[in-house]
Amino acid sequence: MWAATGRDGGASTGVYQSLNLAEYVGDDAGAVAENRRRAVGLVGVGVDGLAVMGAVHGASVGVVSCGGFVAGVDALVSASKGIALLALAADCVPLVLADARAGVIAAVHCGWRGVGAGVVAAALATMRDLGAVSIEAVVGPAICARCYPVPAERTEYLRELVPTEVSGVACIDHAGGSFIDVRAGVSVQLALLGIETHHVNACTNESTDLFSYRRDTVTGRQGMMISRA
Ligand SMILES: [Zn+2]
Repeated sequence: MWAATGRDGGASTGVYQSLNLAEYVGDDAGAVAENRRRAVGLVGVGVDGLAVMGAVHGASVGVVSCGGFVAGVDALVSASKGIALLALAADCVPLVLADARAGVIAAVHCGWRGVGAGVVAAALATMRDLGAVSIEAVVGPAICARCYPVPAERTEYLRELVPTEVSGVACIDHAGGSFIDVRAGVSVQLALLGIETHHVNACTNESTDLFSYRRDTVTGRQGMMISRA
């Protein structure tokens, strides 16, 4: 089971209104705990079974068999029942992956640095190590290219890190400036690895139903979650 959360349905107030799932953004800890309890129920798991990553915009992968916090990774992979994997984001791309038959799941956090670092490929390799064969992906809400202008040096840098099939869609430079389409980059990376991909199509910056760091700076995080349950 997988789920994508937005702002609605939580206990947080003010700029975190209301279903903020991140404990590191200044929100009330009790409210975040309640929000996580509600969210993880969407994928049929208790809050003790929720595995959360401390993302660092790298390509390290954590393999987990129980709930809890894993620091320093941008992907969690599991073959265990009764747990849920959570990827938090507010403009970056959160995505979940599964081979339902093999019972191997993953959640990934991927911004432009993650596209360059290859976190999606790293997560898929770990899934295959655990027996996954036929993997599908769901890419969650993220900022669109139009809303994500960047310094020209950033598209130049990313071009050096990824194949032209990826940079051709992810790096956009024209008279109006430079932009990065992280979702498109992730999608092509998945396609190049033979993964069937579905999308939750929404721009975090444009939708008031979603948290956006670029729009609001001090704000909450939504999530993509997956479980085997
Ligand atoms: Zn947008």
